[in-house]
Amino acid sequence: MNSSVSALCEQLVSVGYIQQGNQARQGHEAKLKELLQHRKLPQEGWDDLTIELVLHELAVMDSNNFLGNCGVGEREARLASQLVAKRHYRLGHGIGRSGDITAIQPKAAGSSVLMKITNCLARDVIKLSGVHSVKNCFVVPVATGMALVLCMLTIKQHRPQAKYVLWPRIDQKSCFKSIVTAGFQPVIIENVLEGDELRTDVPKLSEQIDVLGRENIACVMSTTSCFAPRAPDKLEEIAKLCKENNIPHLVNNAYGIQASKCTHLLEQAARVGRIDAFVQSTDKNFMVPVGGSIIAGFDKNFIDEIGKMYPGRASSTPTIDLFITLLSLGSTGYMKLLKDRKEMFKYLKNALSSCAEKHGQELLTINNNQISMAMTLRYEESVNVTEIGSMLFKRFVSGTRVIAKDSGTKEICKRSFVNFGAHYNNYPCSYLTAAAGIGMTKTDVDTFINRLDKVLAKFSNSKCEIIKQPSEDVSTNEDTSTTSKDKLTNDKLNTSINDVLSNDDVSVNT
Ligand SMILES: *Cc1c(COP(=O)(O)O)cnc(C)c1O
Repeated sequence: MNSSVSALCEQLVSVGYIQQGNQARQGHEAKLKELLQHRKLPQEGWDDLTIELVLHELAVMDSNNFLGNCGVGEREARLASQLVAKRHYRLGHGIGRSGDITAIQPKAAGSSVLMKITNCLARDVIKLSGVHSVKNCFVVPVATGMALVLCMLTIKQHRPQAKYVLWPRIDQKSCFKSIVTAGFQPVIIENVLEGDELRTDVPKLSEQIDVLGRENIACVMSTTSCFAPRAPDKLEEIAKLCKENNIPHLVNNAYGIQASKCTHLLEQAARVGRIDAFVQSTDKNFMVPVGGSIIAGFDKNFIDEIGKMYPGRASSTPTIDLFITLLSLGSTGYMKLLKDRKEMFKYLKNALSSCAEKHGQELLTINNNQISMAMTLRYEESVNVTEIGSMLFKRFVSGTRVIAKDSGTKEICKRSFVNFGAHYNNYPCSYLTAAAGIGMTKTDVDTFINRLDKVLAKFSNSKCEIIKQPSEDVSTNEDTSTTSKDKLTNDKLNTSINDVLSNDDVSVNT
């Protein structure tokens, strides 16, 4: 409160109380001051009141909230609904200025400060997570796939004749499509099987560089975070190859900020070789709604250049969400989430391993992937294991993937993939994956294992009986009524919420 307002208050309420009130307010302001001075994530998370106070302070600096503002332009951040206004803390101007997403917006000083500070916080949190030498980054209001497109379009400016993007295979559609959307031809580098693990075929990558000619290659796009049994790419070796051949290297680090394995790979690879930019999702790493990602890199100018590629202004929503989240967590809170996730990964691994063994299966040995894991689903050839996936989904288990050994060929952007989902043409067995993502709780794991245990029991019971008897004999067997009834229930996917919770989960949460 400024001194003249304070003086007027003192005429209404005794001086001592007003001074105390002012001191309290200064406590909030001190936090803001420190944030603006150091531009670093505070160690301790802020309380909601401080955060809202700051957001309101910033909002009053934007022209749409000026008292008596008279806007006569075509974009004046007029908000028809009060619900929408509140949802955005009355910040309506977005971020950036036509042609540069990191430029300040003259109509919106508050939003511009918010954008600049959030980018500093993002850089700080990326450092904390393990990429200590990151130089620059910014939040974009598009998810990972589109952010990768932006990076590749920027690379294109420097390499107008390049046609190809070399891409060690990862069966995730958006990153593959990002190459095509950016106007390049993907060159798929198949993985190699090392034990149970799928790894980068570095010699093949090197060979392709020679075959295609380095100047015809726009970049190599590698991946850190991925589903087991694929491991993160051999980033250091790829980075070295890129450096030697003078080829840009873009890293898809979609959910890698949460795993020290991935961030250390980035840090090391940038030290020994070349990484031009790495991209991570805000929702997958920071527990905010889907909608944003962070483009980061080790060369300040190149990252600035990507920012300048963005045509037009952009939504500030992902920036506001990240600003609020990082300030409420503080570095202590975020580091705790990372530590808890690591523990939950171990917990899930043990639990999944025991559950697998109980059902005659096993956990695949994937030591280089510290987020996702997989257990075998080895059944008779004739059995359709993907039913396990639907049985789990029906029981409200989301996020597991069942990959059948031979699932045929799938076409994506006119390219065909054998056994899409497996990252490999002929992985030796069917399997089920599960991931320990940031924010996962012990209850999530217990509930999952409980439901999986029941599904696997039910699945093998019904399958064994089906295998025992050819279908024409079914009606003559006394057991068939249950078998076919079970099967019918599975097929109709008609289990109600009550069924699921009362039959399958009695032991959960007790
Ligand atoms: C999530 C993800 C992407 C990008 O998906 P978006 O929906 O664009 O965020 C790309 N690659 C991998 C490996 C992912 O996990």
